[in-house]
Amino acid sequence: MTALSQAASDGIAPLLRWLDRLPEPVDLMLVCAEHQSEVAGHHPGAAVVRLDACLADLPASALLELVLRGTRVEARLEGCERPDLAARSVDDANRLLTSCARPERVALSSSRAGAGAEDPVLDVRALPLPRRALLSMSAGPSGAAAARPPRAATERERMLDALRSLTAPPPRVRPAPGSGSEPPARPRQPRQRDTLDQHPAPSAMLAASGCTGCGVCVQSCPADALRLEGSPADDGRVRVTLRHLPASCLDCGECVARCPHGALESTGRHTWAGLLACLPQFLASEVLRECARCAEPLPSDSTGSLCEICAFRRANPFGARLPPGVAPGVAPALAGGAPADGEALGGG
Ligand code: SF4
Ligand code: SF4
Repeated sequence: MTALSQAASDGIAPLLRWLDRLPEPVDLMLVCAEHQSEVAGHHPGAAVVRLDACLADLPASALLELVLRGTRVEARLEGCERPDLAARSVDDANRLLTSCARPERVALSSSRAGAGAEDPVLDVRALPLPRRALLSMSAGPSGAAAARPPRAATERERMLDALRSLTAPPPRVRPAPGSGSEPPARPRQPRQRDTLDQHPAPSAMLAASGCTGCGVCVQSCPADALRLEGSPADDGRVRVTLRHLPASCLDCGECVARCPHGALESTGRHTWAGLLACLPQFLASEVLRECARCAEPLPSDSTGSLCEICAFRRANPFGARLPPGVAPGVAPALAGGAPADGEALGGG
């Protein structure tokens, strides 16, 4: 999956549309693309749907989206080539449902129990609509389906949308006009988002020290999860502020690996509760300083007026040694065009 272009749960879009058009929820049994054409045993009121991919590729967010349609979901593993991964996704979804204080669970089945009657398996891209649904189609979606916002484009946004819906307080019940009766007391809601604090999300917790504001991390982030902003400082120089957007971060580690000054480190992972809060994380705010010799940005924690290379060259004016961390092949460039012979650096 490319994280931002195609989401792994795109394949269930026809199934979600189908569920939105049904007059009432059905029980769903999901099987893999490789599954045979019939499921043993008869399951009245259930629809057996063959996905166009492996169940193992279905993320927990997709299972939560199905549960939110009011349907009972069962993942059937017979025929699945990676049952362990599929079971892990189901487990993730169920742990999140528990944390959201929801009673629903995604069931898991791997047996071929049952004999005699067999349920047909419906193709996820060719789901038939019952007559009642056809009659109401011209009126468009109604009820919860009509109120539902458009589906998000990325897995991350889909998961956050699902968690927001699962943790939303129930709608307030208004008494009928003139009835005089008080609305029933609303059950006290547990602090549901707090319980999501125990679920690490794939989002890095970052810390910065010695940032120069060079912007390399911002450019290298594939999720646009870092922001670098400049503002005038009191002394006329530029102050840069680096912020992290945990709700967008994919914990890919690119920013940490590419920071040329080793200023970034990953200290752990955010939780889903933190991501739902959607707060940017402050990483660094520094007044930019430049090397007095080459004008390269200086790390904020440097004490001198020269960058590491220029300070080394000043201390070693005859170029007998290379600066620490400099490969021999780059010596001529650092030496300002000095000949390659002997890898000598120009004097300081
Ligand atoms: S964290 Fe590193 S890469 Fe990012 S702006 Fe600061 S110095 Fe540059
Ligand atoms: S780990 Fe760094 S580069 Fe990767 S998505 Fe998060 S902020 Fe961006």
